[in-house]
Amino acid sequence: MSDTATSAKTYPPAPEMAAKAHVNAARYDEMYAASITDPDAFWRKEAGRIDWIKPFTRVSDVNFDLGAVAINWFADGTLNVAANCIDRHLATRGEQTAIIWEPDSPDEDALHITYNALHANVCKMSNVLRGLGVGKGDRVIIYMPMIPEAAYAMLACARIGAIHSIVFAGFSPDALAARVNGSEAKVVITADHAPRGGRATPLKSNADQALLHCSDKVKCLVVKRTGGQTTWVEGRDYDYNALAAEASDECAPEEMGAEDPLFVLYTSGSTGQPKGVVHTTGGYIVYAAMTHEITFDYHEGDVFWCTADVGWVTGHSYIVYGPLANGATTVMFEGVPTYPDASRFWEVCDKHKVNQFYTAPTAIRALMGQGKEFVEKCDLSSLRLLGTVGEPINPEAWNWYNDVVGKGKCPIVDTWWQTETGGHLMTPLPGAHAMKPGSAMKPFFGIKPVVLEPTTGEEISGNDVEGVLCIAGSWPGQMRTVWGDHERFEKTYFSDYKGYYFTGDGCKRDADGDYWITGRVDDVINVSGHRMGTAEVESALVAHAKVAEAAVVGYPHNIKGQGIYCYVTLMGGEEPSEELRKELRTWVRTEIGPIASPDLIQWSPGLPKTRSGKIMRRILRKIAEDDFGALGDTSTLADPSVVDDLIENRMNKS
Ligand code: ATP
Ligand code: MG
Repeated sequence: MSDTATSAKTYPPAPEMAAKAHVNAARYDEMYAASITDPDAFWRKEAGRIDWIKPFTRVSDVNFDLGAVAINWFADGTLNVAANCIDRHLATRGEQTAIIWEPDSPDEDALHITYNALHANVCKMSNVLRGLGVGKGDRVIIYMPMIPEAAYAMLACARIGAIHSIVFAGFSPDALAARVNGSEAKVVITADHAPRGGRATPLKSNADQALLHCSDKVKCLVVKRTGGQTTWVEGRDYDYNALAAEASDECAPEEMGAEDPLFVLYTSGSTGQPKGVVHTTGGYIVYAAMTHEITFDYHEGDVFWCTADVGWVTGHSYIVYGPLANGATTVMFEGVPTYPDASRFWEVCDKHKVNQFYTAPTAIRALMGQGKEFVEKCDLSSLRLLGTVGEPINPEAWNWYNDVVGKGKCPIVDTWWQTETGGHLMTPLPGAHAMKPGSAMKPFFGIKPVVLEPTTGEEISGNDVEGVLCIAGSWPGQMRTVWGDHERFEKTYFSDYKGYYFTGDGCKRDADGDYWITGRVDDVINVSGHRMGTAEVESALVAHAKVAEAAVVGYPHNIKGQGIYCYVTLMGGEEPSEELRKELRTWVRTEIGPIASPDLIQWSPGLPKTRSGKIMRRILRKIAEDDFGALGDTSTLADPSVVDDLIENRMNKS
């Protein structure tokens, strides 16, 4: 079924885009070839985009052999990431806005924080942390709303050499406690309350509950956001605003080794127990800065908006580190796409004249369901480029994004990457590649994707092929280990396919040599001997006018081996019926072919999603297999009650 996901239509770069872009087609080919032929020479040059205190002599030292996995980049160089994101810009752009902060409610004023102000605030936060006894190598948990202090906290840790670990503010006290204990953190930075979508989460109170399960040596630094009430534990809790008022706004950055850890971040947990991904200093910042500039075709003076939360890697690399290393103006948004209504994103683009806009397919699908009036009432003429990340984007959503938001004039970069990869590994480049809706297209510089036969692990060469996606060789942004568990790191990523980094994703390389992510390897099903990615069936289902969302998994089937089980959420106002079931079956048969015809369709008012908006298919798989006794780690689910409903209304297989 290698031709079903590939759509015939391609979207070549507009000539003006190709002319002005950092990378056009010829340049891509030339640079990509150079990056593969002599990676060390290539990365030696690219590392020059960062200021080093002591220059490195060796570029890379990498071993992917089981039992001896070690990844080192620029290892004997020293630098400071905060100095790269702030200090080095002060002479030329001290009064330029570094961060535009847009609050949850449009009634509250936005803030424009200059690089000078960012410097002062980060130094204050650094001094406050030092005052609490935090030093080089110590861990700090950041459990905060999307407010400027969250970015100050990240950069302050980087400045003094502490290792931050951000826990998304939507997580429960249990999830927070597990991460405080797992990282043996000295300090938890939080805020009184976190406003989001018009409601306020009592963050400090969550932290209080979490800290009951942690060492009594852990300190809690509390930033004022709403001024709402909190309880106070004398000797453990510290008032950030009071301490910052007294703290100096100068703080010398610590000299860090390139391989000193910068942060630990847990994956979203859609396939299993979240992993504490460790990123280090030199390689990460080189890769975040480069991908931010090239993928988004960022130019001096642009206003860049990534709608992620800093609790995800996307927020680390493309709200804070990448844009600030490049001296950009980055937008930080506290709210949600649908509050006060579904035009919030577009109003913010209009208000701050955003040039590059980067979001997730889940947000696009949600907004698409609300109708285009919400987009059309805003002036989006400043937009030059759109991006997506997090899941495969179905062509339906891609087309809406392209037509309604981009007015057919903005290239869409469909960036495929992972918490583990630090930055984009595959994406079309806006001035170089003719985009295909739903395709991640081309490897980024220095990335060597390989397609492997899933059972033998043999590399499949040529085009129009499909298999398991691995990466041959390293890149500077690659994770270095799982926090406290190097063995798990080796086992997860290097044991199934020897000598490669295993991504866990399946992909196809089409006839033109372009890449399509087909979903997790676990999500490839085998129906009567035909292998297919469940994403394909989902994509067909959501292309139906009455379907808002769909998730598809396999289940054991006597005759076919695996059957196709579909969870379908209907558009508001649509009623489930037997007729509609039949209609959807026929629809998928005509869209993909008889082999993909759904066996079972369960009406699902809600789907189990992680806090980052990804569907947790492993839970759906268990329900479809009637094995819901042990659902595994569900602590990162946004709404656990959805699961009970799905179990109760599961389909009968006989
Ligand atoms: P866990 O590893 O804990 O199960 P996770 O894989 O969801 O969680 P992330 O690192 O946030 O954690 O997500 C990376 C994954 O998201 C990729 O492996 C891929 O499956 C999916 N993904 C990200 N971007 C894209 C994209 N542009 N197209 C298709 N899939 C994508
Ligand atoms: Mg993953």
